[in-house]
Amino acid sequence: MEMKFSKEEYIGLGHVPIGIGAVIKGWNITERHYRNPDVLPVVDFRAMSPACPHDCFHCFTDKLKKTLTLDEIKNVIDQLAEMKTIAIDYLGEGEPTLDKDFFEIVEYTAKRGIQPIIYTEAAAKLRNRDFVRRIKKSGACVIPKCDSLWNKEFENWVVGDKTGKYFDLRNEAIKILIEEGFNKPEKDGSTRMGFDMVVCKKNMHEVEKTLRYCRENNSYAHKRRKKKNTGRCKKS
Ligand code: SF4
Repeated sequence: MEMKFSKEEYIGLGHVPIGIGAVIKGWNITERHYRNPDVLPVVDFRAMSPACPHDCFHCFTDKLKKTLTLDEIKNVIDQLAEMKTIAIDYLGEGEPTLDKDFFEIVEYTAKRGIQPIIYTEAAAKLRNRDFVRRIKKSGACVIPKCDSLWNKEFENWVVGDKTGKYFDLRNEAIKILIEEGFNKPEKDGSTRMGFDMVVCKKNMHEVEKTLRYCRENNSYAHKRRKKKNTGRCKKS
């Protein structure tokens, strides 16, 4: 396949190929923007509900109680907009889509010209097509949890799901996201769909396969190592 390359300069990435999902929308930030000390590129925002149905061994949040009101959150978004922030990663203290103000926050972010990026376990809310369509309409990107796309037992173990259902439900949500076009190339060549994979000994052999899947399905792959960088998968 002949690739078309972007004319923009990206730090460390060279010229990103257009239309192959190399970068999630909102992270396609030019070098010029990064070098400007007066603007912010990407901000991680966790101020949403601590509710989450899972108990991942690598959970990166503290599940702290939400203390900011919706107006206060909007005020922070306004300040970030003033600083020309390009994207906000909504990581949540728990599962962002369970927050009662989820849509208000995401839609307000887009209205203020900032790209919302939603990290999600996906199974709880994204099997509802209307819910998915409203996210699509808002312009937000979605990054489902994806420690494994193939190993059901491992993925269910990661989230502590004793019912054994999470893997299939998460995959159902991914199918709907694809059907609704989240992985279609945007005009600037970015994609609105990615996967968040925490790499440890039990899934490290799937890294290449996952990257290839992302390339073939025009999705972005966000790879992280688990906390403390031990690389071990451990659960008490
Ligand atoms: S799904 Fe996310 S918030 Fe919930 S336990 Fe796992 S890592 Fe933590």
